[in-house]
Amino acid sequence: MTSFKEFAETCKEIEKISGTIETTRRVAELLGKVDVEELPLTTHFIMSEVFPAWSGKQLGIGTSLLYMALSRASGVSVKSIEALVRTTGDIGESSLLILKEKRKNQATFSSFFGEEPDLSISEVYERFKTASEVSGKGSQNIKVKNLQYLFNSSSPREAKYIARLALEELRVGVGEGVVRDAIAKAFSVKPEVVEHAYMVTNDLGIVAAAAKEGGAKALESLGIKLNRPIKVMLSQISPDVDAEIRSMKVAAIEWKFDGARVQIHKNGDSVTLFSRRLENVTSSLPDLVEIVRKHVKAEAAILDGEAVAVDENGKPRAFQEILKRFRRKYGVEEKAASIPIQLNLFDIMYLNGRTLIDLPLLERRKALEACVESSVDNSHSIAVAEQVLTGDLELVNKVYQAALQAGHEGVMVKKPESFYSPGKRGKNWLKKKPLMETLDLAVVGAEWGFGRRATLLGSYTVACYEPKTSRFLRMGKVGTGLSDEQLRELTDMIAPLMGEEDLGGVFAIKPELLFEIAFEEIQKSPNYDSGYALRFPRFIGIRPDKAPEEADSLQRIERVYSQQRKKL
Ligand code: AMP
Repeated sequence: MTSFKEFAETCKEIEKISGTIETTRRVAELLGKVDVEELPLTTHFIMSEVFPAWSGKQLGIGTSLLYMALSRASGVSVKSIEALVRTTGDIGESSLLILKEKRKNQATFSSFFGEEPDLSISEVYERFKTASEVSGKGSQNIKVKNLQYLFNSSSPREAKYIARLALEELRVGVGEGVVRDAIAKAFSVKPEVVEHAYMVTNDLGIVAAAAKEGGAKALESLGIKLNRPIKVMLSQISPDVDAEIRSMKVAAIEWKFDGARVQIHKNGDSVTLFSRRLENVTSSLPDLVEIVRKHVKAEAAILDGEAVAVDENGKPRAFQEILKRFRRKYGVEEKAASIPIQLNLFDIMYLNGRTLIDLPLLERRKALEACVESSVDNSHSIAVAEQVLTGDLELVNKVYQAALQAGHEGVMVKKPESFYSPGKRGKNWLKKKPLMETLDLAVVGAEWGFGRRATLLGSYTVACYEPKTSRFLRMGKVGTGLSDEQLRELTDMIAPLMGEEDLGGVFAIKPELLFEIAFEEIQKSPNYDSGYALRFPRFIGIRPDKAPEEADSLQRIERVYSQQRKKL
């Protein structure tokens, strides 16, 4: 078992380092030292996760629970803890200070009774796990007790990182890229091999353990597994799709359906559905489960597709309608009957025990066609998306116009020989759609309104994402153009994410929700930490289907900014 001290020491050092190379080296050192059973846990911990993202498991520890545990462990009142957090701006630092003070007072006591207990990484995990799993009467108390135990058994330095981990915000700026390279370094394997193993497992913890136990060979033998969703392949917008098609010579053109992404895992009669964010949405969509069970002929398969909510004429309904179906918890059956779904399948990643992502698109497509039987059942339908293989730009345009006519978004232009790259956005999948530039930005701040709107959050600070440092960088505020009704809905959603207030009356918001924002122009600005600001930003809608880290990146902002310059 590895001591949690090792982990805390690494975090402390990384916090002082600014360069990626040095950070990677320190993470590699840590991973190299940890026992193989604890490697998956450590790998997730260092990325601020307690459970792997694909598992859908939530830790569900809020600040009030955490403060209560710290209060019980230290004897300091919750009020005083809150005040300290307001000053330090960090529960981690506050926990360290509080426990240091407590230990100072107990110094003679502990010198008499010996050293503090040595907390192991797995023990921290087990306590978190218990806290996350209890439910029902008395569960709050059990959660607090487990956290209190951790605070009681840790040094002030360890407590700092336990507190931050409990909120899944370690603040050491270590993301997937660093961990991937650290695994490669620690176990002397090529980063590409680690990357591929990550693509098929979607779990760097599993990858780290395999690398330690069996090196490259073990990594290469890892494959996709049913009911462990993989990241979805993403598409890129291209400023000149025609030129891209010309360079591909022949491209695979499909409609870009206006619905919601769904990843389907079929294992015999059991069907599990995951959203684009890999949430398990099976129970909200029994009609989809049924149609897949009946018309997908493979014993075991993982399929990729777009679910579209349609009206009685088979025309797509507004995007929000399908999202409502995906998130529905009650009255699921009635909704299924009144809003039928058209399922358009466009890829297959796994078939009867075989991982298919390294096959070219056209071969995967053959496998897909062979196992799906197109059908319409009670206005619900299932089909493999039609595909046209062509290099003829006029024909592409015809397909594009037909897609728009049918109420869809445009077309996807795919490279016929390309592999399926989970989580990757690249030129192998391009989208062609009418240009209305919008950005998906994370809400990171909010202010209360005035007068009639005093009980509503009236203005929202939005931010792009910088994956290298895992930071959200502010780009401006939106608020105008929202009706009271919309503000009320947003307030209900965002108020629970509120944190501390700054001097300007802006409350910090935990970045969980994305807004789609239209704007006139991106300008350089010293007022926001992204270095950019939006001119005339307008709220278009929320994007609950996307994870916060899927907010547009600083890189994309820079690209849109320089494209704008070229047009001027
Ligand atoms: P965007 O969300 O604008 O980045 O566009 C990519 C999304 O288009 C994918 O995540 C899918 O949900 C959706 N989509 C619709 N039709 C297709 C298709 N034929 N192939 C791939 N993605 C599609």
